[in-house]
Amino acid sequence: MITIDVEDEKKEIIRRYRRLLRRAKPFLKEGDSKIIRKAFNTALEAHKDMRRRTGEPYIYHPLDVALIAIDEIGLGTTSIVAALLHDVVEDTDLEISDVERNFGPKVAKIIDGLTKISGVFEQGTSEQAENFRKMLLTLSDDVRVILIKLADRLHNMRTLASMPQNKQLKVASETMYIYAPLAHRLGLYAIKTELEDLWLKYTETDQYDEISKKIVDTKEARDKFVNRFIRPIRKELKDQSLQFEIKGRTKSIYSIWNKMRKQNIPFEEVYDLFAVRIILDSEPENEKADCWKVYSIVTDFYQPNPDRLRDWISTPKGNGYESLHTTVMSSPGQWVEVQIRTRRMDEIAEKGYAAHWKYKDNSGNGQSSGLELWISGVREMLEQSDSTAIEFVDDFRSNLFHEEVFVFTPKGELKTLPYGATALDFAFEIHTEIGARCLGAKVNQRLVPLNHLLKNGDQVEVLTSKKQKPSEDWLRFVVTSKARSKIKDALKEERKAAAREGKEIVKRKLRQMKLKLNNETVEQLRAYFDERTVLDFYYKVGKGVIEPKEIKHFKEVRSNIPKDPNQRIEDAASFKKQIAKVRQKQSDMLLIGEDMDVVDYRLAKCCNPIPGDEVFGFVTVNEGIKIHRTSCPNAPELLSNYGYRVVKAKWSSQMDNAFLTDLKIIGTDRVGLINDVTNIISGELKVNMRAMAIATDQGIFEGKITLYVQDTGHLEVMIRKLQKVNGVVKVTRIDTLK
Ligand code: MN
Repeated sequence: MITIDVEDEKKEIIRRYRRLLRRAKPFLKEGDSKIIRKAFNTALEAHKDMRRRTGEPYIYHPLDVALIAIDEIGLGTTSIVAALLHDVVEDTDLEISDVERNFGPKVAKIIDGLTKISGVFEQGTSEQAENFRKMLLTLSDDVRVILIKLADRLHNMRTLASMPQNKQLKVASETMYIYAPLAHRLGLYAIKTELEDLWLKYTETDQYDEISKKIVDTKEARDKFVNRFIRPIRKELKDQSLQFEIKGRTKSIYSIWNKMRKQNIPFEEVYDLFAVRIILDSEPENEKADCWKVYSIVTDFYQPNPDRLRDWISTPKGNGYESLHTTVMSSPGQWVEVQIRTRRMDEIAEKGYAAHWKYKDNSGNGQSSGLELWISGVREMLEQSDSTAIEFVDDFRSNLFHEEVFVFTPKGELKTLPYGATALDFAFEIHTEIGARCLGAKVNQRLVPLNHLLKNGDQVEVLTSKKQKPSEDWLRFVVTSKARSKIKDALKEERKAAAREGKEIVKRKLRQMKLKLNNETVEQLRAYFDERTVLDFYYKVGKGVIEPKEIKHFKEVRSNIPKDPNQRIEDAASFKKQIAKVRQKQSDMLLIGEDMDVVDYRLAKCCNPIPGDEVFGFVTVNEGIKIHRTSCPNAPELLSNYGYRVVKAKWSSQMDNAFLTDLKIIGTDRVGLINDVTNIISGELKVNMRAMAIATDQGIFEGKITLYVQDTGHLEVMIRKLQKVNGVVKVTRIDTLK
C-alpha cells in the first residue's frame, strides 16, 4: 500500500505548472498567462478525483501534453489552453458549452475535435477509424487538433508501461498505423521517430533491448570515427568563416530494426548506422548558396556517390522538409551520409508545421508550402468522401507515405502528385469531370494509356471522350485519394441506379405473383439468391444477372426459407461463437496447443509464428482464429481497426508439436556442401525438412529450406549449427512473405 502525502502532491502540481509557464514565457503576450492559469485551474478542478494508472494525479497528464506542445512542437497559447483542457469533456462532467463559455469558440472547437465519439458502433465499423475520421474533419478548421492529439499520444506512449499488456499492444498498434505516419507527413520527425521506437519497445521488447544495448556498446568507436571524419571539414569551414555546428546522429532503433529485418542482416552489417549533420547559421538570402558551398567543401575531402545526392532545398518535400543530402566515401572505405542544412531548415525538420508557420513570414519565398497544399488536399478529400471510416483511413494512410512527383500541365503549370501517380490521377487532379471522361493522355507529346506512370518533369495533356465512364479496374492504378474517392463515388452512383432499376423490376414481378414487397419478402429473396445485402440483390436484378423468371421460381420454394433475420449476419454470429468459446474457459487467453479441441485456430501464413514468438489471436469470419506474430506486417492494421476481434494468446508450455518455418542460407559453393547441410538438419538434429530450393550463381549459393521446428530455442540451436558448416556464410529465418 502506497500512502500519498497530499501536501507534497499539491506542491509537486504547482511546481510542474510553474515549469510549464517558464517554458511558455518567451512567447506570452499580455493576458496570456492569465488564461493559461484559468485553464490549469479548470482542468485541476475537473480531474481532481482522478488518477492515472501510474497512481499519479491525473493533472500531470494534461500538464505534460501542454509541455510537449510547447517544447517539441512549438505551439503557442491557444494550444497550451487546449492541451490543458483536452480530456475534460471526455472524462469529466464539464461540457463543450462550458469550455466555449469560458475559453471561447476557438478552444472549444479544438477540444471538440479531440473528444472521442461515444456510443455503439455498427458491425464492421471501427471505433478507432470513426474517431480518427472525426479528428481529421476538424483539420479544415484547425490543424492544432492533430498536433495536440499527437502530443497526447506521445505522452500516452511514453507512459505505456503502466498499462496492461493487451492494452499496450492495441495502443502501440494504433500509434504505428496512424499516428507515426501522420507525424511523418506533418514533418514532425523527432516525434515520429520516438513513436516508432516506442512501438518496437512494446511489440518486440527483446529485439528493442538488444539493439539499444548494441548502440550504447558501439558508441565510443563510432564517436572516434565521426571525429576523425569531420576534422578536416571543420577546419575548412572555419577557414571560410562560416558559422556552423556539426553533429553525428545515430539512426533510430526502429529504423535499424527495420533495416535488419528487410535486408535480413545482423546489427553489425547495418552500414549507415549514423549520419553527419552540418547545421549552418545563415542569412535567409544566402541559405542556398551557403549549403552548396559546404557541399563543395565536403566533397573536396571525400568522394560523393552521385546516385545518392538529394536536393530538397531547391524542391522541398511535401511536408516542408528542406535539406541537402549526400553520401560520401570515408577513408576507411565506409559510406557516410552527410546532411547539410541551415538552422531554420533544421528546426522545420524537427518541429514541422509549427516551426514552418513561424518562419513563413520572413522566409523570403512567397510560394505556399507543400504542407499547406497537403492540408487543403486533405480538406477536399474529407468534404467529398462518403466512404466508410475504415475505407477512409486506409485511403488517407496510403497517401501519407508517398513522396511526390512534379509534373506540368500543357500551359506549364506545376502539379504535385504522390509518387506512383498515373495519367488518370493527373486527370482527376485537374478536374473531376476530366478524370471521369479520361480516355488516355499525351505525356511529352507521346500517346499513353490511362495507367501510365508519371515521372518528374513530365508534361501531361489529358484526352477525354464523352462516352467514357469510370470502371472498377481504374481503382487498381490510381494512387491519389481524390481520384480514388471520385471513382468510388461514380461506381456507387452507378450501382445505386442499377439497384433502383432492379427494385422496380422486383416490384413488378412480385405484383404479378401476388406477393407484397415488404421487408420480410425482400429478406427472403436475398437469402434465396444468397446475396450479402438487399442492395446486392437489387443490383444484380438491375444488371440482369438475376433474371425475372428466377424470381418466379422463388415463390415455389418460399416456404422452406428460414424466417430468422438474424441468421444472415454470419460474420457476427460465427466470431461471437469463437470468442465465447475462449471466454467459457474462465480466462480470455487462448492457450495455443491446449485449446485445439475447444477452439478452431490456425497459424497465420503471413508471418508463420512458431512457439516463443509473441503472438495474438485474430477472429476471422470463416477460418476460426488466426494466430499472428505481434510483429506481423499485417498486425498494426488488424489491431487498430478490428480491436474487437483480437483475442489474447500465448503458447502453452507443454507443446510438442512441430511448426513450419523457412530458413535462408547463403554461402560459397563447394562440393558436398548441400550434403553437409542436410546431414545436420535431418541426421544430427533429427528435424524434418519439407522442402529445399538451392540456386548457385558464380560460386555463391543461396538456399531456402522449409522445415519443422519446435520453438524459437530449437530454431536458434539449428541456425548456430548450420552457421558452423564450412562454406556457409549466413543463415537467417525468413519471417515474412514478400
Ligand atoms: Mn489525454
